[in-house]
Amino acid sequence: MMMLDPFSLADLEQAIACNQLDTYFQPKVDIASGRVVGVEALVRWNHPAKGLIKPNAFITMAEENGLIGDLTDLVCNKALEYATQLRSLGYDLNIAINISVDSLTNLEWPDRISSLLEQSGLEAPSISFEITESRLMEHLSVALDILSRLSLKRFNLSIDDFGTGYSSMEQLQRIPFSEFKIDRAFVHGAAREASARAILESSVLLAKKLDMKVVAEGVEDQEDWDLVAEIGCDQVQGYFVSRPLPFGNLVKWLDEQKSK
Ligand code: C2E
Ligand code: CA
Ligand code: CA
Repeated sequence: MMMLDPFSLADLEQAIACNQLDTYFQPKVDIASGRVVGVEALVRWNHPAKGLIKPNAFITMAEENGLIGDLTDLVCNKALEYATQLRSLGYDLNIAINISVDSLTNLEWPDRISSLLEQSGLEAPSISFEITESRLMEHLSVALDILSRLSLKRFNLSIDDFGTGYSSMEQLQRIPFSEFKIDRAFVHGAAREASARAILESSVLLAKKLDMKVVAEGVEDQEDWDLVAEIGCDQVQGYFVSRPLPFGNLVKWLDEQKSK
């Protein structure tokens, strides 16, 4: 197998310090109304020599080398700045930000994010933090304190990649989540895969029992859309609606939706 051209930790440190990171945005659509209700911020690295690098190539490196706190702060800053611009353009959308469990060990973080929010003029209920199920369950006791503080501040908490982490009912009830995002492994093609469909259906059932909203990730075609609508998901995210877009293209895309 050919090795991908690697980058060093120093490169990543520099990228964070020199503002080479940006956020793309992927729309989330409400199934019942067909309206765009939010966008998820997804980090991208504009590497001066290697071009656009996706997060899976560098998030783990950031987590393992103490850079994730700075990365998270940078992403939050950008996402809130863009969110303010969206507001001024008349788009009142929920903004979802991915948070690594490793960022949930710093007890000062909820206050820091609150003061950032204050500067931006936005309100906590229009911000969601997405935390991956599997890693959260490994570090639940540490993260729980910070998640509770965030929830008290009225931020939305969303459990990401649901279905990959084997959470128990008991664990799920302890965390103040308001949303499940079902992993795309159980969404795309589930109409033709009995086991994926079974996991999708039981996840939706569980979410409804716990009074949570359900977002289906990875909806790539009409068949996926029809299935998640039939099963009772609330929102959809995926290539069928739109790929993640740089901010300028997101605004164009939103304008086009308005005139449809
Ligand atoms: P995620 O949070 O599950 O985000 C969804 C990923 O699935 C995104 O990949 C998105 O581009 C991709 N995707 C969306 N719709 C479809 C679809 O219909 N089909 C397929 N095949 N893929 C789809 P991306 O942007 O490469 O991000 C990968 C992961 O990196 C994210 O997964 C998230 O866990 C992590 N990540 C992204 N941004 C950040 C960040 O700012 N901070 C942290 N800590 N993690 C981040
Ligand atoms: Ca996510
Ligand atoms: Ca996911």
